[in-house]
Parts: sequence; structure tokens; C-alpha cells
Amino acid sequence: MNCIFKRSFQFFLSFFIILLENKNSFFSRVEKVSEVSFLNSDNDFLKYPAERFFKVSSHFNLKRVNPVTGLISPHKGIDLPMPVGTSVLSVANGTVFTARYSNIAGYFIVIHHKNRLITKYMHLFKLLVKPGQKVKKGERIGLSGNTGRTTGPHLHYEIWIGEEAIDPLTIKF
Ligand SMILES: [Zn+2]
Repeated sequence: MNCIFKRSFQFFLSFFIILLENKNSFFSRVEKVSEVSFLNSDNDFLKYPAERFFKVSSHFNLKRVNPVTGLISPHKGIDLPMPVGTSVLSVANGTVFTARYSNIAGYFIVIHHKNRLITKYMHLFKLLVKPGQKVKKGERIGLSGNTGRTTGPHLHYEIWIGEEAIDPLTIKF
């Protein structure tokens, strides 16, 4: 009888240890989010990379299925349809990391900001910045376009924290 009691006690003990370990990983996750909230309260970021809001035509979706190939091809940003030549703005102070042409992204820009935040702007008509250049929040960095692999004029906009793409609509600024 005593032995059974001891065993069940050990079982519950190990159960609580597992619970505590998970609790710790839960709290480190919360810390990461509050790092972003801190930035938001700072008001260092613009909500949108343009002077006015353009309705989202394609949302952030990591499980999006390509209608042509049927394969999962994640959409790591949002699509904002806008007339070709619309001013595209850097959403925060930062340094231009990339500003060049690619077959898929067209003319595109990558900007590194503080706290491992990265923003990407794709399918541009014209680049107005160069790699290494410092930019300010709200600065015009390019003109929107229809370059690369697109089905119409729009800005594809991404936000990353380090290696992880974040939905620009749910990130709080
Ligand atoms: Zn897109």
C-alpha cells in the first residue's frame, strides 16, 4: 500500500515538473511578444508602408496552396493593390540591406531596423534607395509597380523578426 502511494506521488511530481517546464517556455514566448509591444508603444513604426491605406487583396498565410501547382507556397506578407508609381515608405528608421531586381520579387527592397526587425517591399516600379543607405520612418524608398511574378500592380509587404515572418496586420504598432 505504501509502495503504491509512493509511486503515485512520484508520478504526480513528474507531471508537475513537465507542467513547470512548459510554463517556462510559455513565458519566454510572452517576452518575445512584449518586445514588439514595446516598439509599438514607442510609436517608431508606421502601420502601413504608404501615405494612405490600400485594401489587402491577399493576406498573410503560411499554409496557402498555390492554385496552379497545388503545392503549399506560404504567403509571408500582405498584398496591397495600388496604382503603379504610388510612393512606398519605409515604416521605420533603418538601413537598406538590399535594393535590386529578382525574377520573382521584381525590384525589391529589404530594410533592417532595430530589435532584429526586417521589412521587405516587392514588385516595385522604381528603387529610390541603395544598399547601405540609412532611411527614416516615412521616407520614400521606391515607387510601387508590377515587376517580377505578379498578376497585377500591387505592393507585397513583409515584416520579419529575425528568421520569422510576422503578419503585418496582427503585429501591434
Ligand atoms: Zn504577395
